[in-house]
Amino acid sequence: MADRPRFGPSGVPPIFRLMGTKIADVPKLLKAEGLDAFEYEAVRWGQTPQIKREDAQALNVAAKENDVLLSLHGSYFINLSGEQAVVEASKKRLIACVTAAEWMGAYVVVFHTGFYGRNSKTETYKKSVDAIRDVIKTLNANGFEKVKLGPETMGRHSQFGSIDEILNICQEVERTQLVIDWSHLHARTGGGLRTVEDFRNIAVKAEEKLGTEAMRNMHCHFSKIEYTYKSGERRHHILDAPEFGPDFDKLAEVIVDLGMRPCIICETPILDVDARKMQETLRKIVETKRQKD
Ligand SMILES: [Zn+2]
Repeated sequence: MADRPRFGPSGVPPIFRLMGTKIADVPKLLKAEGLDAFEYEAVRWGQTPQIKREDAQALNVAAKENDVLLSLHGSYFINLSGEQAVVEASKKRLIACVTAAEWMGAYVVVFHTGFYGRNSKTETYKKSVDAIRDVIKTLNANGFEKVKLGPETMGRHSQFGSIDEILNICQEVERTQLVIDWSHLHARTGGGLRTVEDFRNIAVKAEEKLGTEAMRNMHCHFSKIEYTYKSGERRHHILDAPEFGPDFDKLAEVIVDLGMRPCIICETPILDVDARKMQETLRKIVETKRQKD
């Protein structure tokens, strides 16, 4: 949970990669850019952690030294509402992600819950809740008690993860963290996030369901997004793409008005550059409001 609005990239920025940066050096470089969050991408992981324990621990130390809040994006190969064998394998992948997150001191594992497939929405919901509870049982039994589980709002109509589904899961299941991918919501609702009120309505709904603290501490993903009405999300775009929504400045207004302190992870193709841009947008809005008061 963030102590103030924090910003950072989803994964290692391209320029760091070009420099051959070691994972433990990432927090220092982000801090030098003025950023204070980092989402480690474990998106291609299988059933065992694909980072060495000592490397994860070195990242943990470096993140604390440089005041960078860590989160971890779990494997894409998770479907908690599939066939039994798929669900069992998915649970193991999620546990592998949480294990590494505990090593690196990440506060949340963000993950995609799965697909409706042939199930009804209600069945999908129930299967997902059962699977997450099973995972939590195993984690507790293994002494992994710190990291929260963050099912994310999803952008395709075939995927479980409307705002209502995610809020319901967070209300019903202990140890969950609200994760709102605003771009996914925009895509899923056919461009539903146009005005400041559209953003505010989502935050207010989250507050009504989960309480003020959970709303203020939401974990966010943000980018511009291209979508189709038929299937939803198509691809992520940079912030400076006027033909696509949503606009970060409208979310920033709501962040200031509601006293939110979200961790905001940038998912545009130019990760750290756009994370800085969002941070600057928020700073300017805070400044303008202060002058008015
Ligand atoms: Zn995601």
